[in-house]
This record gives sequence, structure tokens and C-alpha cells, in this order.
Amino acid sequence: METQEFDVLVVGGGPAGTVSALRCSQLGFNVLLVEKEAEGRHKPCGGILTPACVNVIQETLNTSIPENVFCSPKKLGLYYIPPSGKKNGGSVKNYELFNVERSLFDKWLIKLAEKSGVQIWYSTKFMKLKQFPSPETLLMKDKHSFKIKARCIIGADGVYSKVRSCLDPPMRMRTMRILQEYCKAKGDFENYFYVVFRSDFSPAYSYIIPKNNYYIIGAGFNENSPKTALLYIERFKEWLQKTFGFRLFSLEKREIWAIPYGFTFNGSGNVILVGDAAGFCNALSGEGIRLAIESGIAASNAVEKAMAASKSLLPIYNEYIVWINDFVHAMYEFASNLTDDDKREEFVRSELSRIPF
Ligand SMILES: Cc1cc2nc3c(=O)[nH]c(=O)nc-3n(C[C@H](O)[C@H](O)[C@H](O)COP(=O)(O)OP(=O)(O)OC[C@H]3O[C@@H](n4cnc5c(N)ncnc54)[C@H](O)[C@@H]3O)c2cc1C
Repeated sequence: METQEFDVLVVGGGPAGTVSALRCSQLGFNVLLVEKEAEGRHKPCGGILTPACVNVIQETLNTSIPENVFCSPKKLGLYYIPPSGKKNGGSVKNYELFNVERSLFDKWLIKLAEKSGVQIWYSTKFMKLKQFPSPETLLMKDKHSFKIKARCIIGADGVYSKVRSCLDPPMRMRTMRILQEYCKAKGDFENYFYVVFRSDFSPAYSYIIPKNNYYIIGAGFNENSPKTALLYIERFKEWLQKTFGFRLFSLEKREIWAIPYGFTFNGSGNVILVGDAAGFCNALSGEGIRLAIESGIAASNAVEKAMAASKSLLPIYNEYIVWINDFVHAMYEFASNLTDDDKREEFVRSELSRIPF
């Protein structure tokens, strides 16, 4: 079997993997990124970017998101609705979110990585990992197997990470699943990302996002049965109808995926995890893209330092991501301990405006 060698192997072509690969390549390393899907894969997502996310792209990647990646409306406010209803909710002051088409956003990022010299293999699946004496992996492309030796491996393969499951000990992620529907519909909505905290619609949150000529409606659920999710979303839509005059014309698509929910794991030895694979997602808001990008940047900085000092990667990476781990756990504690009474208070609303999502 053919064996190829790289400085860094990145598994997964979402924001975490792409940014890790891009930055490692800019730092002068020879990088291979493998993505199991064909070019232009779709990731179930609301496509909402926080100002902090847009800033980190601008400052660290030294570039701006191109106009064609944004949806209409490009900017949205955040409208918070507590269990007691719309009249007690409202827009979070001075808060502006960015509305992107997620598949275009990912495509733009991966093209940046390609331009910076990263080798990208699409339709290539990471299968197996041997960590000792040095990291070695088995990849599968078009029914052919490849052995890749790399000095460092960055697992960026999402919430159901195969890289994570190959580590010793293998870790299972705690998750919150989310049902999303793409609807052609009408309603008295303004330019807001509406987030609703009502436990009869979701144990976490439900939301509606205007996007081009349709709306994305979503609700988190933690039972195994998709039937529960359908019940939640039907209740939510009935409430949207009563509250905003929501009228559904056609349901274009329905999808279920998961977010990591308050559990993190950073890797082992010279194999580290970034983004959803590491569990980096905000349990209160579902925001993961910024943490994916921030952890990708941290991973590349750690690779540079570890390689220069010929040291093991994980301890160095751990130092760079203390704040991400702390943030994820704090948001999980906060979100999972809220009672409906708490949610009724102004409390959540003021917290929402305070937190740098
Ligand atoms: C319904 C929903 C809505 C969301 N909405 C938002 C939002 O509005 N804003 C926000 O900030 N966050 C949102 N999130 C969270 C956000 O989508 C994730 O946090 C983000 O995608 C994480 O990026 P990532 O690069 O870590 O993983 P991913 O984007 O999941 O990328 C992982 C990549 O790895 C590839 N891969 C997997 N296994 C293998 C393998 N064995 N070999 C090779 N490649 C592999 C996958 O094909 C994929 O391309 C949402 C999540 C969900 C589920």
C-alpha cells in the first residue's frame, strides 16, 4: 500500500479543519486536508455568525467574507422570547448578527486553504489511526486505501468524530440534536433571528431565521425519537402562527443533526481535536462556527510551537484553549440549569446581551 508523508494531516473540511489547515500552511508546513464528502458538502446549520466570529476572521485570517456568501437580509438583530411570550421578550440592544449561506461560507474558506498551498483530497474518508511510535492513518478514497504518516494530526471531523473514537480512551460526545425545516412561508417577521426559550417547544431552544426567500425553523431535542422533535416543531409552528401570523406554503427540506452539548475532549499525544470534534459549541445559543475557527487558529499555533521545540502537541494545545474549554462548560452549566422561572425573568435577556457569543 502506498504511504505518503506530511507534516500535518487535517481530517474534515468544515470551518475548524479548513482554518487549521490554512494557518498551518501559512506557517510553512506541508499539509494534507481530507474531506469525506465531495466538494460543496452541505452542513445542517442556521448560518448565523456573531460579530465576534466575523472579527476573528477579519483579524486573524486577514480577509473579509465576500458579499456573495451572505443571505438576504445580510444583518439580523437578536430577538429573545421567554416562556411567558412575545410581549415579555424583545430585541437585544445593539446586537447585530450576520446571515450567511453556510455551504457558500464553507466553500469560500476551503478555497482560501487551497490557495495557500493545502493539498485537499475530497471524497476521502479517515478510517483508522495508529498513534505509536508516530501518528499513522489509513484513508479510503474511491475504494483505494492510503497510508498517511504525519507528525501531527488535527481531527476536525465534526460532532460524530471518527478521529475522537480512535483515541485512547475513545470518547463519546454528549449532544443535543436539532431538527431544522426549510420553509417557504409568510409571517409578520422583521429582520431578526428569533430565539424562543419554551420547554414545550424544546428542552434547549427553538428559532426561526429569515433566509433569502425562505425561513429556517429549528428546535433542539434530546430524546432518541425523531417523533418527539416533530411534535416540538409542530407546536412551535402553531405558536408562530398565533403570534406572528405564520403561514406555511411549502416545506422544502427537513434535516436532523447534533451539536456538542457541554462535553469537551482535546485529543491525545500528537493528535488533537478542534471544533465540534472537540465539543466546542455554545450550549445556550448553538453557536459553533466561531469556536471552530478559534480552535483551528489555536491548533495551528500549537503545531508551530510543538514542532519548533520537538515537543508533544497536546499539552501545548491545551494551554491555548483553556478559555474555550472554560467558556463551553460555563455556557452548558448556565443553559442546563435554567428553569422556566429563570427564563421568565429579564435575567436571560440581560445574560444574552452580556455574553460575547
Ligand atoms: C441544526 C444546526 C444549526 C446550527 N446553527 C449554527 C449557527 O447558526 N451558527 C453557528 O455558529 N453554529 C451553528 N451550528 C453549529 C455549527 O454548525 C458547528 O459548530 C460547526 O459546523 C462546527 O464546525 P466543524 O468544522 O468543527 O465541523 P463540521 O462543520 O461538522 O465539519 C466536519 C467535516 O468533517 C467531515 N468528516 C466527518 N467524518 C469524516 C471522516 N471520517 N473522514 C473525513 N472527513 C470527515 C464532514 O464531512 C465535515 O465536512 C449549528 C449546528 C446545527 C446542528
